[in-house]
Amino acid sequence: MPTLRLANLVDGRLQAPIHDAWLEVHEPAVAAVFAQCPASDSADVAAAVAAAGRAARGWAATPTEQRAALLQKLAGLIEARLEEFAALESRDSGKPLNLARQLDIPRAISNLRHFAAAIVGWGSQSHAMETGTTGSGAINYTLRQPLGVVGCISPWNLPLYLFTWKIAPALAAGNTVVAKPSEITPCTAALLGELSIEAGFPPGVLNIVHGRGPAVGQAIVEHPDVKAISFTGSTATGASIASTAATRFKKLSLEMGGKNPAIVFSDADLSDAHLDTIVRSGFANQGEICLCGSRLLVQRSIYETFRERYLQRVQALRVGDPLSADSDLGAMVSQAHYDKVLGCIERARAEGARVLCGGTALSPPGRCGEGWFIAPTVIEGLAPGAATNQQEIFGPVVSLIPFEDEAEALAIANDSCYGLAASLWTQDLSRAHRLAAQLEFGIVWINCWLLRDLRTPFGGVKQSGLGREGGNDALHFFTEPKNICIRY
Ligand code: NAD
Repeated sequence: MPTLRLANLVDGRLQAPIHDAWLEVHEPAVAAVFAQCPASDSADVAAAVAAAGRAARGWAATPTEQRAALLQKLAGLIEARLEEFAALESRDSGKPLNLARQLDIPRAISNLRHFAAAIVGWGSQSHAMETGTTGSGAINYTLRQPLGVVGCISPWNLPLYLFTWKIAPALAAGNTVVAKPSEITPCTAALLGELSIEAGFPPGVLNIVHGRGPAVGQAIVEHPDVKAISFTGSTATGASIASTAATRFKKLSLEMGGKNPAIVFSDADLSDAHLDTIVRSGFANQGEICLCGSRLLVQRSIYETFRERYLQRVQALRVGDPLSADSDLGAMVSQAHYDKVLGCIERARAEGARVLCGGTALSPPGRCGEGWFIAPTVIEGLAPGAATNQQEIFGPVVSLIPFEDEAEALAIANDSCYGLAASLWTQDLSRAHRLAAQLEFGIVWINCWLLRDLRTPFGGVKQSGLGREGGNDALHFFTEPKNICIRY
C-alpha cells in the first residue's frame, strides 16, 4: 500500500472520505502509484459546504487585516517548507523539480501574499450626484460584500500555483471556500490544507474535498449554497459546468483551453535570450501550460534560418528524471495524457506533417525507464486549418507555420476557436501595437512570454474563457456590489 494517504479538510479537521473510497495517485516519472487520495462524493461536499456556511458570517466580519495576516502566515509556512512542496509537486506531476522550486511554489506563495496585500489596499467606488441649483444632492457608495460560500476547481498542470490563484482572492475577499484540486495531482493542495490549520484559519473557512470531477466537482457546482464557481481546466469541462451553473444563476469564472500562437517577424531581435524564450514558450512544463505557444508562426523570409536555429535548441533540450538538475523536461502527467499526446503526434503524421524532431516516446535510463516521457516534437507542413493546428494538444508539440506578411499572420493567429494568449516577436513598435489591438486573445506578450504582473487581468476570449482573474478582477468576481444612494 502507498505510504502517503491524503485527507480531506472539512470544518478545520483532516478527514477520510465519508464512504471510505480511495483513488490511486501516480508518480509519472516511474509510472507507479505513490499515494492515495480520497474518492469523495456528494456527501463529503455537503459536509464541506455546511461547514463553510457556518463559518461564512464570522469570516466576512473578520477585519480585513486579520484575514490578510492569516494568508501571509500561510504563505510563510509554505515558504518555510518550499523544498518539501517542490519535491511533492514534482513527484506528483512529473515536472522538473527545478521548475517546481523556481516557478510553481514561489508563485503559489506570491498568490497568497499578493491578495493579502491587495485586500488591505482595496477600496470601493462612490459617485456624487449634483441635482442643480437647489443645493441638494446625493451620494452613492458601493459596498463590495463577499458572496458567502464559493467553489474553486483547479487542474493538474500547475497544481498549487492555480489552486492558490483561486483560493487566495476568494478568502481575502471574505468568502469561505470549498476547493477541489485535480485528482491527478492532489498532494500539494492537501499539504496546504494541513498548514492552513497550523496558520490558524477558523474551522470551515477553507475546505478541501478531493476526488473525481464528475463526483466532487459536479456536486460543488450543483450545491444550492455555493454562490460562485471559479474553474480552471478544459473547455469541455467548462462547458459542462456552465450549463449546470446557468440555471442556478451562479457567478462563473472559467479559464479553459488554448491554442496559442507565437508570431515571429523577420525584424524580430532573435538574440540567444529571445530564442531561448521562444523555445521555452513551447516546451516549458512539457508543453503542459495553458499559455504555451503551440503554433509557431514564422515570417517566410526568415523561415529556414529560424527553423535551423530553433531546431538546434529544441534538440538540445534534455528530457529525463524530474529530480535531476539536468532535466529541462520531465514526464507527462498521466498515462492517459501521454497516450493522448502520442495520439496527436500520430494524427499530425496522418495529416501529412513532417516531423522535424522528436515524435516519439522516450525511455530515460535508470529509475525512470517505465515513465511517461515524450521527446520535444517540432512539426511543419500542415495548413493552419488542420486538426493539429486547431485542437489543443497540451504537450511538447510545436507546429511551425510560415506566413508572408502581417495580414496573413493576423488571419492565421485569429483562426482559432480559442483565444487565451499570443506572443509577438518584432522590433517594429507600430506593428506591435497595431497587431496587439487586433489579436483576438485575452493576453498578448510582446518580445516576452509568461511575464506576469499579478495585478493585471488574466484570462481568455472565445472558448478559452469567461471572465478574468488577477488583481481587482478576481476581487470583483468574489464580491457582490451593492449600491447605496443617500440624498442630502
Ligand atoms: P479538466 O477539465 O479535466 O479538469 C479540471 C478540474 O475540473 C479537475 O479538478 C477535475 O476533477 C474537475 N472536473 C472534471 N469534470 C468536472 C465536472 N463535471 N464538474 C466539475 N468539475 C469537474 O482539465 P485538466 O485536464 O485537469 O487540465 C488541463 C486543461 O486545463 C487544459 O485544457 C488547459 O488548457 C486548461 N488550463 C487552462 C488554464 C487557463 O488559465 N486558461 C490554466 C491551466 C490549464
